[in-house]
Amino acid sequence: MNIILLGPPGAGKGTQSANLEAKHNMRQLSTGDMLRAAVKAQTPVGLEAKAVMERGDLVSDEIVSALINDELAAMGDDVGAIFDGYPRTAAQAAALDEILAKHGRTLNHVIELEVDEDALVDRITGRYTCANCGTGYHDRHAQPEVEGICDKCGSTEFKRRPDDNEETVRNRMQEYRAKTAPILPIYAERGIVTGVDGMASIDEVTEALDAVLASD
Ligand SMILES: [Zn+2]
Repeated sequence: MNIILLGPPGAGKGTQSANLEAKHNMRQLSTGDMLRAAVKAQTPVGLEAKAVMERGDLVSDEIVSALINDELAAMGDDVGAIFDGYPRTAAQAAALDEILAKHGRTLNHVIELEVDEDALVDRITGRYTCANCGTGYHDRHAQPEVEGICDKCGSTEFKRRPDDNEETVRNRMQEYRAKTAPILPIYAERGIVTGVDGMASIDEVTEALDAVLASD
């Protein structure tokens, strides 16, 4: 099983990928993570990528393809791949088809975690966590029982992520739409795109993803 998981930041891709990895013997292949790992391990591709980045250039499609190729070669044939943040262009989509074919794999599903932009803004801009134990809260939807005191540990220190603001969320949405626009039609034409309601609860999204994976 090989899938592409799409969704803007905040849609829950990380949580759901971790679920899929645990339940379905799959591995998330994030190009950013792979790149950092290859550079650190000083593999031939990693060294090449490092040189490119040190010149201030963007890593080419060839390098990304080589990274994915290496990763799939190192993975067991029975382990499924979850592509995250890739492909982003029609050329990369074509390259991915070739790489998968080379490894005897095919792309089974492209799953998009669909979000409502305003609801996403509401979800992200209100969230904060206990600075001591990490328990999550929300200004409008999940306040501690006693104002200003963490339910779990009693701490009075809380923190917010600086990029959890409306402008950042809306910019990221726009960037996401621009990045998926070139590739969604390619996969829609093949009939392998499924939309899942990313605004549902974590468990409901997990169930919906399981249903998509069980549908072949
Ligand atoms: Zn706490």
